[in-house]
Amino acid sequence: MEDKKKKNRIKMREQTPQARIQNFMEVPYGYTPNEAVEEASRCLSCLRPACRNGCPVEVDIPSFIKLIKEGKFIEAAWKVKEKNALPAVCGRVCPQEIQCESLCILGKKGEPVAIGNLERFVADYEASEGEIQTPEKPKVTGRKVAIIGSGPGGLTCAADLIKSGHQVTLFEALHKPGGVLVYGIPEFRLPKTIVEREVEYIKKLGVEVVVNAVIGKLYTIDELLNGHGYDACFIATGAGLPMFLGIPGENLNGVYSANEFLTRANLMKAYLFPEYDTPVKRGKKVAVFGGGNVTIDTARVALRLGAEKVYLIYRRSEEEMPARKAEIHHAHEEGIEFMLLTNPTGFIDDGKGNICAVECSKMELGEPDESGRRRPVPIKGSKFQVEIDVGIPAIGTRSNPLLLHTVPDLKLNKKGYISAEADTGMTSKQGVFAGGDIVTGSATVILAMGAGKKAAKSINEYLKWKYWDFKR
Ligand code: FAD
Ligand code: SF4
Repeated sequence: MEDKKKKNRIKMREQTPQARIQNFMEVPYGYTPNEAVEEASRCLSCLRPACRNGCPVEVDIPSFIKLIKEGKFIEAAWKVKEKNALPAVCGRVCPQEIQCESLCILGKKGEPVAIGNLERFVADYEASEGEIQTPEKPKVTGRKVAIIGSGPGGLTCAADLIKSGHQVTLFEALHKPGGVLVYGIPEFRLPKTIVEREVEYIKKLGVEVVVNAVIGKLYTIDELLNGHGYDACFIATGAGLPMFLGIPGENLNGVYSANEFLTRANLMKAYLFPEYDTPVKRGKKVAVFGGGNVTIDTARVALRLGAEKVYLIYRRSEEEMPARKAEIHHAHEEGIEFMLLTNPTGFIDDGKGNICAVECSKMELGEPDESGRRRPVPIKGSKFQVEIDVGIPAIGTRSNPLLLHTVPDLKLNKKGYISAEADTGMTSKQGVFAGGDIVTGSATVILAMGAGKKAAKSINEYLKWKYWDFKR
């Protein structure tokens, strides 16, 4: 019995599939204090903890888990926040299974310690105890930094720079800060109140957040650096420009990009219908195209908005799907119908400009392509139609050129992302740093946070030394 306890992690209780498809509330409930202590007690407090090497923001994992074992939950939250300003977010959406947890020694003979669940627990516990404390204010340096984009990369960089005593302004194009955390990831995986709470913490540290501020339109980077007295800029504008399938009928009414569909559902609160009558079509038969996390999120949102049937149409097999296994499992449980080895070839018009069906081809897997995955090849004569009233391509995003066009001396790579040094975030332009999805292409929350942290460190160096060397 004792052995089994060591091998298996404490599962989080969650809403049943039947209950949760009727609402937008979070699926798992989170640990109770007893469950958290029990799970933390599985940790061996390794002398050379491999788990730490898997955390891009270098959280002292064994120390915070030890504090949980001792029942010191607030202290544990503080330990995490020494390195991570967004613990409740990361505890919910980080792919720990391929990061810290994949390296945990317990994973060799059983299940790794549930590091993400414990991180979520301490962050929520601290919040439930009332006022969230902030560290002592640092000595003011008199230097000003502009951060463009308030996703996890921008928020992390802002939090680290303010702790170093600089004046930090965070410019956000949308009316709410948080980036994909607020406009992309659905409420049932990451409640907006959690993001608001963590953004409030960063504001409390002293970061000024300016919303509805599209940099490139309102000010250029040169205007910020020269006219407005900013000593450095960090660009963390993400990769928010949706890609389309490029097939006939993609401009019919009822076809949305996943970005648009999720933004309307999240930021315009479609999930609070009828209280909020959001302009988004609540389809009865919805098809979502793609195989990543965004595809799964979109399909699950469509289901919760009242669709009777949601198809996930993907041209390869389930094995090749890049989405997290846990999310694929949730989608199956909720009744999303997976149409695998199926490729859309055109949307059909009902004669009035609305989508009424999608034409698809069946596929088979051929030789591996550049990505190492087997290339899907259409099977001749296999075309068929599926009746739908909403179609949502969710096949990825690219960098938005709006800001980049206004900075001609900023070097971009072949794909249109900013060329920046991986260790420092330094770009080709003096005083301009960049990180997150705008450099790597669509990646993860924690990688964007890691980039924000590295950039904050090098902006600190730049402000201390390089700037003044340059001036002399
Ligand atoms: P973003 O989060 O994209 O933030 C960029 C911000 O910059 C946005 O708010 C944008 O409005 C703003 N901006 C853009 N241009 C300008 C401008 N000119 N002026 C001012 N502001 C501007 N990752 C995970 O780790 N786990 C998940 O479960 C997960 N799920 C996802 C689900 C969805 C639906 C999506 C779309 C992504 C998901 N990701 C997930 C990926 C993750 O969210 C991103 O990798 C991460 O948010 C990138 O952070 P970022 O700071 O680089 O940019
Ligand atoms: Fe604990 Fe696993 Fe990290 Fe060891 S590797 S300290 S057992 S979480």
